[in-house]
Amino acid sequence: MSPPLLEVRDLTIEFMTDEGRITAVDHVSFALERGQTLGIVGESGSGKSVATRAVIRLLTDNALVGERSAINLTRRDGRQVDILGLASGSSELRQIRGGEVSMIFQEPMASFSPLRTIGTHMVEALQLHERVSKAEATRRSIELLERVGIADAAGRFRQYSFELSGGMRQRAMIAMALVTRPSILIADEPTTALDVTIQAQILQLLRELQEEMGMAMIFISHDLGVIAQIARNVAVMYLGRVVEEGPTRDVIFEPRHPYTRGLIQAIPRLDAGQRRLTPIGGDIPSPLARPSGCPFHTRCGERLEGRCEARVPDPREVAPSHVVSCHLHD
Ligand code: SF4
Repeated sequence: MSPPLLEVRDLTIEFMTDEGRITAVDHVSFALERGQTLGIVGESGSGKSVATRAVIRLLTDNALVGERSAINLTRRDGRQVDILGLASGSSELRQIRGGEVSMIFQEPMASFSPLRTIGTHMVEALQLHERVSKAEATRRSIELLERVGIADAAGRFRQYSFELSGGMRQRAMIAMALVTRPSILIADEPTTALDVTIQAQILQLLRELQEEMGMAMIFISHDLGVIAQIARNVAVMYLGRVVEEGPTRDVIFEPRHPYTRGLIQAIPRLDAGQRRLTPIGGDIPSPLARPSGCPFHTRCGERLEGRCEARVPDPREVAPSHVVSCHLHD
């Protein structure tokens, strides 16, 4: 059996801060196959962004990665590399970052320098990863700007990001991320700052582009409703751990973890009349005061006294490919 396109194994990431050591990602493992979309959902502070940024080694200098952690990528030429084992600044890491694995963010301004035009960004990105002439890079960039739904693409190519509306900037960022035809796109809350109509258009666009280009995608969101629209599989994260994962339909229609059930009850539904939304009680604990045992025990209404705070639950398969870490399923 061929290895998955991406395999994140036993990923642990801690940060050294003035206040102490913080565990942001705690023994996380997942795999991504070609063309597949994996959703990662959780509140802020769940570790979802840190875990995925590690895939392109976008971590701050105070980050410590666990010794047994590995991020294995099957490269375009079929070779497997552990991204964590590559020297920072190595040419192989540069080829992977932005070439084979690209990332888009909630705030597109973070991706564009205000001193360079959209076109300059795209041409530079393409020429960094492929031997193409400037004319060819320009042609491909304008073609992609058109494909992502930007009217007057040749004109926009010469503009700066601050001259575009929020939705247009988001489309331009997607075009820039995809100009190198990556095998994996990491989308970190790309629709969170957009209004609902534009959000739906961007999700539709990402689905179409993914199919056309055959790329895999990791889609991060705090909103399970958005994940349901785009990802076939989902991993639910809480305080740095994956607490439930499986096919999105199964996780949404038959959630087995109390935290996932809480997330679902907090989603507004048009067909639910006057039904009250039930937010998850309490706040996510400070990472400096990480709870013992199950990380969710301080907020869980189904806590088993004497057990949940004492021992971290092991992952258990409760249905095909549906895995839960909760003592209720021991
Ligand atoms: Fe709740 Fe215990 Fe399950 Fe954690 S292990 S989610 S505290 S029941």
